[in-house]
Amino acid sequence: MHNIMELDRTYVANTYARFPVELVSGSGSKVTDTDGKTYIDLGTGIAVNSFGIADPVWQEAVISQIHTLPHTSNLYYTEPCAKLAEMLCARTGMKKVFFGNSGAEANECAIKVARKYAAEKKGPDTYTIVTMKNSFHGRTLTTLAATGQDAFHKLFQPLTPGFAHIGPDMNELCALAETTKIAGVMIECVQGEGGVMPLPAEFVTALADWAKKEDVILIVDEVQTGNGRCGALYAYMNYGITPDVVTTAKGLGGGLPIGACMLGEKVEKVLGFGDHGSTFGGNPVSCAGAVSILSRIDEALLAEVRKKSELIFSKLSGAPGVLEVTGMGLMIGIKTVKPAKEVVSACMEKGVLVLTAHDRVRLLPALNIPEEELCTATDVLLSAIAP
Ligand SMILES: *Cc1c(COP(=O)(O)O)cnc(C)c1O
Repeated sequence: MHNIMELDRTYVANTYARFPVELVSGSGSKVTDTDGKTYIDLGTGIAVNSFGIADPVWQEAVISQIHTLPHTSNLYYTEPCAKLAEMLCARTGMKKVFFGNSGAEANECAIKVARKYAAEKKGPDTYTIVTMKNSFHGRTLTTLAATGQDAFHKLFQPLTPGFAHIGPDMNELCALAETTKIAGVMIECVQGEGGVMPLPAEFVTALADWAKKEDVILIVDEVQTGNGRCGALYAYMNYGITPDVVTTAKGLGGGLPIGACMLGEKVEKVLGFGDHGSTFGGNPVSCAGAVSILSRIDEALLAEVRKKSELIFSKLSGAPGVLEVTGMGLMIGIKTVKPAKEVVSACMEKGVLVLTAHDRVRLLPALNIPEEELCTATDVLLSAIAP
């Protein structure tokens, strides 16, 4: 028998501080390790397993596609890709979709679209993309440049030029616009890796008005917040704005890699033949799985997400050891008296998997987690948080 932890530490690049747990199987919101210990999962593989682990409907869609046609390349038409694009457009009012394999790739596409639109409309010196200081947009060199948190930047210089970072403050944006030609602004409505921090509604709506007036492309990064996570299909819908570009990934695939960059009316014709591409983008298996996920994120499910959100907020707010609860829907951040990492370890000990984000504990449970499991897990979390 191989010691998997030892093998991993020896041969897998040392980029992840993994917990000393080897997971072997799962079902719904329960996951089991090699010792047979079962955990309630409030992390969903970082907002990926939208309907839990090995969700049977998703599994059936994926397996049947694997049997019929697993991969073709983008030289040919396939049904799952076209159907998924149609569904995304019908549900958002966006006009076209480019498919990649990850959140970072979806954002790369959005940045290319904003730059090409600005170059054609305003000239090649209009290229700057503005993002938030507390943002996270991915790990490629260009999405790292877009990411505002300095902690991710060091030792990878020079990053792609043409990015500027501001706080969620229109005065800062207007001051920047005096000296810099801005092609696009990219935001997360709720900053995930930044500690589950929702942007103020006044800022988001003022930004959307400003972008429209200035003909600047508004990109909303819904990689983490999207696909029902925040109690609406996409979190921007909670703010009543209409972005030009919406990117998503994580929960859309339900457990397989996919990224989508949705293009609104203003930019639907920006990308032409040869402007962008991806070998695996729109892969039939990932898309068939995503169709099965998206088709079940209906009003009834979203209402349930919002109800469970209220339940968690009411249980946690003001509880012993809790300093602040932030977030939206089933994307929740908890500032605790104890260090977040200690809370995560204590929860794990007691059979509940939770995440951290920045200095906070982060919860991203399955959208369909049974209320009973959610309550049990929240009680464990409360006991781990209490001083
Ligand atoms: C996770 C995340 C990304 C990066 O997605 P990958 O699939 O890891 O490339 C980008 N933006 C946000 C907001 C994210 O949460």
